[in-house]
Amino acid sequence: MTTKVLIVEDEEKIARFVELELKYEGYDVEKAYDGRAGLELIRSSPFDIVLLDIMLPGLNGIEVLRRIRQNSNIPVILLTARDAVVDKVTGLDSGADDYITKPFAIEELLARIRAVLRKREISEVKTEDTLRFKKLTLNPQGREVHVGDTSVHLTKKEFDLLELLLENKNIVMTRETILDRIWDYDFSGGTNAVDVYIRYLRAKLEEPFGLKIFHTIRGVGYVIKDED
Ligand code: CA
Repeated sequence: MTTKVLIVEDEEKIARFVELELKYEGYDVEKAYDGRAGLELIRSSPFDIVLLDIMLPGLNGIEVLRRIRQNSNIPVILLTARDAVVDKVTGLDSGADDYITKPFAIEELLARIRAVLRKREISEVKTEDTLRFKKLTLNPQGREVHVGDTSVHLTKKEFDLLELLLENKNIVMTRETILDRIWDYDFSGGTNAVDVYIRYLRAKLEEPFGLKIFHTIRGVGYVIKDED
């Protein structure tokens, strides 16, 4: 799907230049030359990201941003004048995702657009993602684990190990992979540590609740499997 960008910028030359560059990169672009026009476009059609100049006639960019944030979570990058430190701080406080100082190199703007969109993607995936297996649920943000309605306290390593196995359900995780992901790469305690932590998890999650969660693949590692 094409990414739709809205540029709100009263300096037509800048707006036009950014539009051409973004179109060249494959983005869909629309322009507004003042804040009210920008707000109207945002209300009437969906954009993936807004590039918002701060110094706009009439409604300034910060005010436009505040109004956007009343009912929308759309990513916004502010375009600020050189050295306008106060603007940047106010802008970020008002809910901007990032800012870029004019004049900017188009490569930098493109990099920031990609970074903001990527960050949004990651956080959207994450917030949806309560991991589940049978009565077991794991909430990655809150770092909470429940079996049914019962909250289970796990140490950091136990939690990370459970999360890794749930994220890779039905895929056998070798002890080496687990060590590599959960422990420091230079951890020298041996793969035995994985077995020890699986034992801790079984003691907290399987035995008290009569659940079968972790399968041992002898000589290889562990897996959480959907029953077939
Ligand atoms: Ca301006």
